[in-house]
Amino acid sequence: MKRIYLDYAATTPVHPDVAAEMQPYFSEKFGNPSSIHSFGQEAKAAVERAREQVAGLIAAQPEEIVFTSGGTEANNFAVQGIALANEDRGNHIIVSKIEHHAVLEPARFLENHGFKVTFLPVDNDGLVHPEDVQKAITDKTILVSIMHANNEIGTIEPIEEISKITKEKGVYFHTDAVQTVGSIPVDVNKLGVDLLSTSAHKLYGPKGVGALYIRKGTRLEPFIRGGGQERHRRASTENVAGIVGFGKACELAKNELQSRIDHLIPLRDKLIKGIKDNIQDVVLNGHPSIRLPKNVDITVKYVEGESMLLNLDIEGIAVSTGSACSSGALEPSHVLMATGISPELAHGSIRFTLGRLTTDEDIDRVLEVYPKIVEKLRKMSPLVKK
Ligand SMILES: *Cc1c(COP(=O)(O)O)cnc(C)c1O
Repeated sequence: MKRIYLDYAATTPVHPDVAAEMQPYFSEKFGNPSSIHSFGQEAKAAVERAREQVAGLIAAQPEEIVFTSGGTEANNFAVQGIALANEDRGNHIIVSKIEHHAVLEPARFLENHGFKVTFLPVDNDGLVHPEDVQKAITDKTILVSIMHANNEIGTIEPIEEISKITKEKGVYFHTDAVQTVGSIPVDVNKLGVDLLSTSAHKLYGPKGVGALYIRKGTRLEPFIRGGGQERHRRASTENVAGIVGFGKACELAKNELQSRIDHLIPLRDKLIKGIKDNIQDVVLNGHPSIRLPKNVDITVKYVEGESMLLNLDIEGIAVSTGSACSSGALEPSHVLMATGISPELAHGSIRFTLGRLTTDEDIDRVLEVYPKIVEKLRKMSPLVKK
């Protein structure tokens, strides 16, 4: 049985060209970029080339890129770094309710340490309304952090409009762009953001490496203290192989961006239509059109997301659900709850995310298997009115 991976929002396979580019940096080119000798300089040159490649994908200057251990660290760095460096100006931060935990948790941490945090609502499609940002800003506000696109429901937020407001008010603006870099066009100047987080493993690069874009002139404390790497903004010996891979992944993404989008949109729309045509009582979560080309997130009434996931897995199809199984209890997704759906419905959610290697045949197979699974589960469900 051919296994079908439809969980590209969780992670992606390393592109073969990326793996090939990384290979020498584990063995013969193993130098420490801080070393003065030729081994060190060879590694340093590779890191700087990667910095140009990452900057090139998002229209930034190379000096504005700081490498991190991933998207989570980039988000922690942005939120805590701005808060600590700008305490003299104010103690108020604004984030949306549908941020990734890697933004929500640092925000809650700051809340426990004297900062005030506003958690902005979203509408039923998952959109943050710029007027709400405008209204929430006070003279104590130092940071607004709104994600570029949501990882669960795929909704793309109006970052350009929000940045007009933050600019006018003189408030720093961070966006978690982990789901968009390499998926849709991302230009830090068009978006108008001061800080932007990205992660290599969501765009066919390796795990454990990411970057924070920091606009020139932004006041920000380091998150990891120690040596003077990354121009004193992020200590620790660079993950050279990882960074090289990230750079290559960004170069590939830049060259292939439009063809990736053109490949995904018809597959996404075929999957949505096929599900709606073959399964009753399903709802598409997120915005119907302002959504990531890779994302199909749905709620199926009267069934549990976990049951669907496990049954699809038996058929070799890998997907994800909106519920996170933490400490044995199933918590409905905070993202779906914020869009206003009931906890019962949220439990019936399932996310398909498509990618480079997804084929038309894969979608056909899902559409053959999945409606039968739902039918079987509904027959056993106590929730169905019989
Ligand atoms: C995956 C993800 C992260 C975390 O990135 P890591 O590199 O896995 O730490 C943060 N934000 C969003 C939106 C994500 O999808």
